[in-house]
Amino acid sequence: MAYRVGNYDAKFTAMVVVGMHGNERGVNGIATGLRELAAQGRFTAVDLWIVPAYNPDGLVVNRRQNSRGVDLNRNFPQNWRPLTGNYYAGNQAASEVETHSFMKVLDRARPDLLLSFHQPLNGVDIDTKYPSWSRYVAEGLNLPLKNFNCGGVCSGTMTGWYNARYPGIAMTVEYGAKPDATYMRTYAPRRVAALFQRAGGAS
Ligand SMILES: [Zn+2]
Repeated sequence: MAYRVGNYDAKFTAMVVVGMHGNERGVNGIATGLRELAAQGRFTAVDLWIVPAYNPDGLVVNRRQNSRGVDLNRNFPQNWRPLTGNYYAGNQAASEVETHSFMKVLDRARPDLLLSFHQPLNGVDIDTKYPSWSRYVAEGLNLPLKNFNCGGVCSGTMTGWYNARYPGIAMTVEYGAKPDATYMRTYAPRRVAALFQRAGGAS
């Protein structure tokens, strides 16, 4: 499920993805908080898409993978490799319904900036298509810049697929292992909202 909120006519389109890994539930509050801010009319300069539970089956059982044991962030048809174990990539590229569905959503929404929230590395990936955007996001969210290198296996990632095919930029943002629940529900969404509004040209 994806919610489209904010100003549909805005020139700047953003997307927030939460819950791609079902055991990284400490960031879920961001999606809730952003929807509350949207209900207050805070996104005047942003056409904002919110995906609050990318991997619903994994979220229910607190597991990284989906119900078929696939790491959805290794299943995209971009440098796909047949990884096994914790990073099991599926039996072929885009084998999972979650991947298919989201590729369609991305093709429709085509965000200028997509933030995919994870845990527990605590930082913003500097190794992106436009490092200046990484710095902008890190500063806006008050997180350090880091090179995540996908845990050594940068194959089949959603951000890699999007960055290779569309003009917009997708990046991974990681919070720590146990982020404060109030911070994630209240303050982190405000920071995300402020940086989107600035990027959208709000004064
Ligand atoms: Zn993750």
